[in-house]
Amino acid sequence: MNSAVDHAVPAGQRIGVLGGGQLGRMLGLAGIPLGFRFVFLDPAADACASAAGQLLRADFSDTSAARKLAGLVDVATFDFENVPETTARALEETCPLYPASNALGASQDRLAEKDLLCQLGIAVPAYYPVSSRTDLLEGLDRLGYPAVLKTRRLGYDGKGQAVLRDQEDLERAWQKLGDCDLILEEFVAFEAECSLIAVRAQQGETRYWPLTQNVHSNGILALSLPGVFNEALQAEAENQMRKLLDHFDYCGVLTMEFFLWKGYLLVNEIAPRVHNSGHWTIDGAACSQFENHVRAIAGLPLGDSSMTGYSLMFNWIGEMPDQKKLMAVPGLHWHDYGKTARPGRKIGHATLTAASRSQLEDNARRIAEIEGGEFSALLEILNKGDHGFHD
Ligand code: AMP
Repeated sequence: MNSAVDHAVPAGQRIGVLGGGQLGRMLGLAGIPLGFRFVFLDPAADACASAAGQLLRADFSDTSAARKLAGLVDVATFDFENVPETTARALEETCPLYPASNALGASQDRLAEKDLLCQLGIAVPAYYPVSSRTDLLEGLDRLGYPAVLKTRRLGYDGKGQAVLRDQEDLERAWQKLGDCDLILEEFVAFEAECSLIAVRAQQGETRYWPLTQNVHSNGILALSLPGVFNEALQAEAENQMRKLLDHFDYCGVLTMEFFLWKGYLLVNEIAPRVHNSGHWTIDGAACSQFENHVRAIAGLPLGDSSMTGYSLMFNWIGEMPDQKKLMAVPGLHWHDYGKTARPGRKIGHATLTAASRSQLEDNARRIAEIEGGEFSALLEILNKGDHGFHD
């Protein structure tokens, strides 16, 4: 369905989304003002995107539900990459899906993803496929300790992975993960983590947001700070992104996550969708990743991806903040996902916007004072490198 289509979807028409989480919700919130209506397919009765449209309750493996969704909408997309490729293909038979199922498939298997990146000449950490204990020992021989053992499929937010520092870690990790197909990666002692988010229209027009520094806590994104890397690094990241966008003849938003190591960019993973590290674009960029994704898949002209000032995003994971205290901080934009709080669950984020870096820094400290220890520690990580708050 996707080949050489110029598929302009008129306002008032419907957009289908495989997945009804907070990313789907924010796509809906961005697309509604443009005149679109949304239908989300998700198994959860309380899928939080349902606040922004109709919910079609079905399992992600239910291909007949995907075909039903195709009949209800004019164009479709997805809000997470673990939708089975067969479901995406079933939908694609009768409805344009952007990005197409080829990009979805490539991002679902860490080994296939890394093989593809290598083929395209994009640098990744050294890796070794593991489907037996012998493979693991061979891999460790080659890569040495420390190393990171990950499941090839269905891992996210640091789930399905373990850092191996010695033989004891190896035994523990093998007990936990040994049943799955795995990949062993060298442990990268990175200077910083960052991501590039791009959007490509049906006819190839492409926009890039500024590289964003990301800080993770227990494998989950905790803080994003855009606009702190120099032009050379931005150009290098865009160059790598372009190879991937062209390879897939991609339409929509694509994210690349990098380790910055000795001044080089190594790709950790790609996500064929809007991304948590781009949430700041709602309040801090002329056109957000969500609006531009909707524009791209609907065949509309893309919006300006430049920053409108300084901004920084904090995630709230597992526990809601004291909203009243938080919202007293100048320049703070609170985004509540309408989800029940649970340990390890992303339930909201806040973007701080400011006219100067020092103002941004002052207000970020105010948030850290309200929220306490861990938030201060996150800011400390930014301050350590050359790529943090200091120009
Ligand atoms: P992932 O699920 O692959 O995005 O991993 C979650 C986080 O774990 C990353 O953002 C890094 O902070 C850390 N991590 C993953 N792989 C590696 C690696 N090969 N070396 C060092 N840290 C890693």
